Amino acid sequence: MKVEKIYTIPVNDAYSSSCACPLCALKAKVEADSLDYYLGPSLMEPDNRVLTNEQGFCGDHLNKMFGREINRLGMGLMLHTHLQDVKKSTDPLWEKAAPSKRTLLSGKDAEYKKRLTALADKIDSRLESCIICDKINTTMKRYMEVIMWLYFEDASFRETFAAKTYHCLPHVAMLLRAAAEELSQNQASEFVEALAKTHNSGLDELIKDVEWFTLKFDYRNKEKPWGNSKDAVPRAIAMLGGESADAPSAKDGDK
Ligand SMILES: [Zn+2]
Ligand SMILES: [Zn+2]
Repeated sequence: MKVEKIYTIPVNDAYSSSCACPLCALKAKVEADSLDYYLGPSLMEPDNRVLTNEQGFCGDHLNKMFGREINRLGMGLMLHTHLQDVKKSTDPLWEKAAPSKRTLLSGKDAEYKKRLTALADKIDSRLESCIICDKINTTMKRYMEVIMWLYFEDASFRETFAAKTYHCLPHVAMLLRAAAEELSQNQASEFVEALAKTHNSGLDELIKDVEWFTLKFDYRNKEKPWGNSKDAVPRAIAMLGGESADAPSAKDGDK
């Protein structure tokens, strides 16, 4: 497999940093770079405008772009032509969406449910389509290939990976899928064993911390120390949603 340096460097950096989930950190970086890119001068380039008109951005990424509070004019211009494109692609379906009223003369409209569903599907597909989500998905796929490659080719990365005690659940699933796709049976055996070891002990630890968080509400435990439980709820959310790259980890200095 051909592995490009532009992908190995960020993977190594993320795994050697003290962030919670290295894959969330990698995702956050691609996302931030893409947001900057699409809010920058690229917004006015004709090729990009064709792309933003056709594909657009999902609601989450539109909100994140708006939240950056830059290039409002560029966003306005992009949205103007994108909305026109959305309307143009749904107009023909709107024209015949509503069933005619049933009368003695017009009879039953057998197809109207299909037409309503087709229009709803079209709208949904326009809303789900997102240039930034696509960019994140393809880049994360590259990163998965790089992780699998580094794990077996680079002993120091293998050690770093084995020492990383935390991946959020969405990214554990991503790693498992990549292992199924990229690795031989023997390689998968070794890789998944290493992942299972850190993942399951980390999850057990988190379950205990969340439980202790709830028990601290009991007046009998009021004076007892929090231990690692003070931030157990945001850590549980990060574990389940995989969205926060900065999810505080239980033990500082833990890699
Ligand atoms: Zn993650
Ligand atoms: Zn998106």
